Amino acid sequence: MHVSVVIIGSGPAGLTAALYAARANLSPLLIDGSQPGGQLTLTTEVENYPGFPEGIMGPQLINNMRMQAERFGTRFQHGHVTEANVRERPFRLVVDGEQTVHARTLIIATGASANLLGLESERRLMGHGVSTCATCDGYFFRGKELVVVGGGDSAVEEAIFLTKFATTVTIVHRRDKLRASKIMQDRAFKNEKIRFRWNAVVEDILGQEVVTGVRLRDVKTGHTEELACAGVFIAIGHTPNSGLFRGQIEMDEKGYIITKPGSTATSVPGVFAAGDVQDSRYRQAITAAGSGCMAAIDAERFLESTD
Ligand code: NAP
Repeated sequence: MHVSVVIIGSGPAGLTAALYAARANLSPLLIDGSQPGGQLTLTTEVENYPGFPEGIMGPQLINNMRMQAERFGTRFQHGHVTEANVRERPFRLVVDGEQTVHARTLIIATGASANLLGLESERRLMGHGVSTCATCDGYFFRGKELVVVGGGDSAVEEAIFLTKFATTVTIVHRRDKLRASKIMQDRAFKNEKIRFRWNAVVEDILGQEVVTGVRLRDVKTGHTEELACAGVFIAIGHTPNSGLFRGQIEMDEKGYIITKPGSTATSVPGVFAAGDVQDSRYRQAITAAGSGCMAAIDAERFLESTD
């Protein structure tokens, strides 16, 4: 299959790129990726996306974007890009190890994925009390005690959301100050169900079949203690999904794709990057959507200049 614009990723960056490329009559092909809809499908209420004064649920927002991109002729392909070669044009992509797609331009909007602590128990108990998504799993913990690990906006947001179900939520943070924005901090401090365990790390997650607690280590004193809980939500940041392009496209030390200032152009002409895969700084749905729009316009101009 030969396509003018292939977009990888179906979060706000990919869907906005698709909308703009479709309206430019470029018949873009959007390949969904491993988390269709991206991170917004894992959130609850989005209060800071302009145009929705009452807020909107993340999955609804994504669904709206998808329908809008579809209306102008975006083709959607469910699947995961398993191989990518951008060393020569047209670029060659393999979807699910089977289908080959040739792309004249490529927009990488693969986003970022949740980081984990790296404990054996965390892997073993994932889905059995360990989660990276409060929206997905919070409901299962009605009347239980929960732990959230992390100190950023995600940790605080998840903790607040989980208080709808849990009796108490303890935020375990490795420092004594939150990284989260002031407004989120204020909400957490005011919430009577939220407790804080400062200067502590989760050394182990306890339980054989399901989570029964965590073993915490105080980073200042070295003292360890057990805290009973039925669920552990890990909210310690994200890693960009750029592995497919390692060695082919310029990235920073964390794997974020480097784009030229004021544009979405990568180090490879004809390959553009939008959203969280190239943004370690703002990481918002609206900035992802904005850069998706830029990527489509950049791809369109690139195609015009190379015709
Ligand atoms: P983040 O801001 O990078 O915060 C990650 C947190 O996890 C930090 O507090 C960090 O501790 C901690 N951490 C990292 N690795 C750890 C480890 N191995 N063990 C224990 N703790 C660890 O990530 P985020 O909270 O996912 O937020 C990402 C971006 O999205 C931010 O720009 C944020 O503002 C934005 N966001 C906004 C909203 C909102 O506005 N509603 C909601 C969610 C996210 P240190 O603080 O010590 O580094």
